[in-house]
Amino acid sequence: MPMESLDAFRARARTWLAATDIPAVPLDLDGRFATLRQWQRTLFEAGWVGIAWSKEAGGQELSHLHHLVFVEELVRAGAPQPIGMIGLEVVGPSIDRYGSDWQRRELLPRLLSGDDIWCQGFSEPNAGSDLASLRTRAVADGDEFVVSGQKIWTSWAHLSQRCALLVRTDTSVRKQAGISYLLVDMTSPGITTRPITQMTGDREFCEVFFDDVRVPRRNLLGEVNGGWAIATHTLGSERAGATLRRRVECEVALDEAVEQLRAKAGPSSDSRAAAAVGHAHIAMRVLDAQTRQTTARLVAGTGPTPMDSVDKLLLTDAEQTVFAEIAGLLGPLRAVPGARPRGLAAQRWTHEHLYSRAASIYGGSSQIQRTIIAERLLGLPRV
Ligand SMILES: Cc1cc2nc3c(=O)[nH]c(=O)nc-3n(C[C@H](O)[C@H](O)[C@H](O)COP(=O)(O)OP(=O)(O)OC[C@H]3O[C@@H](n4cnc5c(N)ncnc54)[C@H](O)[C@@H]3O)c2cc1C
Repeated sequence: MPMESLDAFRARARTWLAATDIPAVPLDLDGRFATLRQWQRTLFEAGWVGIAWSKEAGGQELSHLHHLVFVEELVRAGAPQPIGMIGLEVVGPSIDRYGSDWQRRELLPRLLSGDDIWCQGFSEPNAGSDLASLRTRAVADGDEFVVSGQKIWTSWAHLSQRCALLVRTDTSVRKQAGISYLLVDMTSPGITTRPITQMTGDREFCEVFFDDVRVPRRNLLGEVNGGWAIATHTLGSERAGATLRRRVECEVALDEAVEQLRAKAGPSSDSRAAAAVGHAHIAMRVLDAQTRQTTARLVAGTGPTPMDSVDKLLLTDAEQTVFAEIAGLLGPLRAVPGARPRGLAAQRWTHEHLYSRAASIYGGSSQIQRTIIAERLLGLPRV
């Protein structure tokens, strides 16, 4: 049967979204998590999650373009994303590509439906930018690995059922060559999560401690000591997927702020607002131009590539510019804890602005993206 045309697919998505109750998302983390998890189930049952994924994995086997069309329609309808974005955008594509039949069959449908929320256990207290220095150890013991060590900044760890965990399985070789990739059940005995409060006030990420945690060998993704190449794939997927989605989200946020400004003061009555919106608009146009190439790469199946680092830098710039400019219009009160600046959707824009500061850190900092571009795209010598 021929694949549904993009126009027909878009019309079907629009009709469904118009007929569906879009949930209001609470600002507090627990309320937000519960609402978005239920929303993921609603989307999954209606066939809108895993649009480009195989049927075997629980998906719809349509194209990446269909997926992008749905993301666009979802955001434009004012609807939130599902909660399991680390599974859907970051970890899932690597399990799909490198996983055994058992892993793909057992893990991916539950990842798509939101029955399993995934976290990404990569960073450690002494291994962030220099990820290959990670020290969390896994020792083979019969048909299990025994894992000990600590991760940090693990988003959603305290609310997750599964973790994509990088561990050291060999200390005698080059550091990249001694890393393995485990798919860990977060209910295993010996795992402790300790949430950390962010400047937004949320407790979204955690320290995670592993104390002789036993992980079955069948939960090894790829080969023993073959984890580094898969981790690179995971980080590339994160950069490409997030860029395309965040572009639409930033675009819609900017449109909404402009609408709110129009309603408040008339379109051009405030030159400060006009300058701010203009600046944000230009950052968005630059990102827009770049992501056309990203889409082409995704459709051609040629990613992840070092070009994803260009996307990540431009997305960071656009996201931080858009939310800083909008938040700037709220005036100095925005920086006062508990204050409620008047005008615009103050609470929302303040939260978005604070969260956007993390964009130049997570998924690999901006400095590290520039190094990747210098070395891998431009062929400059390593420093
Ligand atoms: C909101 C948020 C969510 C996150 N979620 C997760 C998650 O779910 N899972 C996970 O594993 N990690 C997560 N992280 C961690 C993130 O990946 C790391 O913070 C990031 O890789 C940077 O590592 P670091 O914090 O150890 O900083 P460091 O590596 O110590 O870097 C400190 C500073 O030095 C700079 N620097 C370091 N090395 C170099 C170099 N060689 N050249 C130039 N500059 C350099 C960096 O750019 C940075 O500015 C998250 C982070 C944030 C902010």
